[in-house]
Amino acid sequence: MSSPSPRVARQAPVASRDTPVAQLRLLKIDLHTHILPERWPDLAKKYGYGSWVQLSHQGCPPGQADMMQGGKFFRRIDCNCWSPDARLKDCNATTVDVQVLSTVPVMFSYWAKPEDTLDLSRYLNDHIAQCVAEDPKRFVGLGTLPMQAPELAAQELRRCVQELGLAGVQIGSHVNAWNLDAPELDVFWKAAEELQAAIFIHPWNDATETPDRMKPYWGAWLVGMPCETTLAICSVTMGGVLDRFPRLKLCFAHGGGAFLATLGRIDHGFNVRPDLCATRTKHPPSHYLNKIHIDSLVHDLDTLKFSIAKIGADRIMLGSDYPFPLGEHHPGKMVEESDLDDKVKDAILYKNAVKFLNLDATNYQ
Ligand SMILES: [Zn+2]
Repeated sequence: MSSPSPRVARQAPVASRDTPVAQLRLLKIDLHTHILPERWPDLAKKYGYGSWVQLSHQGCPPGQADMMQGGKFFRRIDCNCWSPDARLKDCNATTVDVQVLSTVPVMFSYWAKPEDTLDLSRYLNDHIAQCVAEDPKRFVGLGTLPMQAPELAAQELRRCVQELGLAGVQIGSHVNAWNLDAPELDVFWKAAEELQAAIFIHPWNDATETPDRMKPYWGAWLVGMPCETTLAICSVTMGGVLDRFPRLKLCFAHGGGAFLATLGRIDHGFNVRPDLCATRTKHPPSHYLNKIHIDSLVHDLDTLKFSIAKIGADRIMLGSDYPFPLGEHHPGKMVEESDLDDKVKDAILYKNAVKFLNLDATNYQ
């Protein structure tokens, strides 16, 4: 497949005689992209029940397909959602060197029988691993897990990291009725910490549980998702997850949702109502800012600068939500064209991701 195009938005650093060549190339790593296989088995037929997601190519223009959930239209997608070649064409046009691949959150299927979600997760994880194997310089993979069965999730996480060579997994901001501090999930967090797996936490909503008030004006996405992510961060902080597992590597999507903007209120609430908020940890959520990461997907430079001031440039990684319309259409452009310091740009565009994903940067040169 095609090779990466050089970065054009910034000047490469000047080489000194002693600088190893491998250190000269700037990278751009997009931590937040979604991919699906082009086809997969009829899951309702295979498992015998349920509103599974299928991809229907029937009746669509060439290069497009419809995601159907339980037979109902969910979303039309383009071939860059499944075709590595189409993705790389876009990457080359936008100077993205590496895409981190994860499934589309509607595929989490936490509502189903654990053994069936495990079976589907394995299928999707094998597909992502295959995409990475076919182009290991351009793709890094994150798996998906049957989080409703934490023992099985831990087992599949081990397979993802140790057998498939994935960098970690993407999980939901909640698991059905559980927030991320549910004691049942500790077995998963323990495995994630042991493996030093990258955990990308992405909001999702169950359409059947979305209140009607949240439906107009794309409310479930524009309002519900940032709220979901905020609750997820409150759960891992106030719920003591980061006390029990302090070496976890967590990244929250969409700039951490509304968390940073409401952190003053949340901390204040923690302090004035310890009976409600300080039941599982002694520390307010701001205490854990140096233990979590967020992606850069906030669509506004002032908000990004505010996020940098709050959480630090070493905690933010480029994420575009490719290939979906709510994402940053030219990944990294806002950072590249900003007046941010070059060191800050490098940290956000690739250096933090190299560390977070346990990558050897020389493999992507
Ligand atoms: Zn996303």
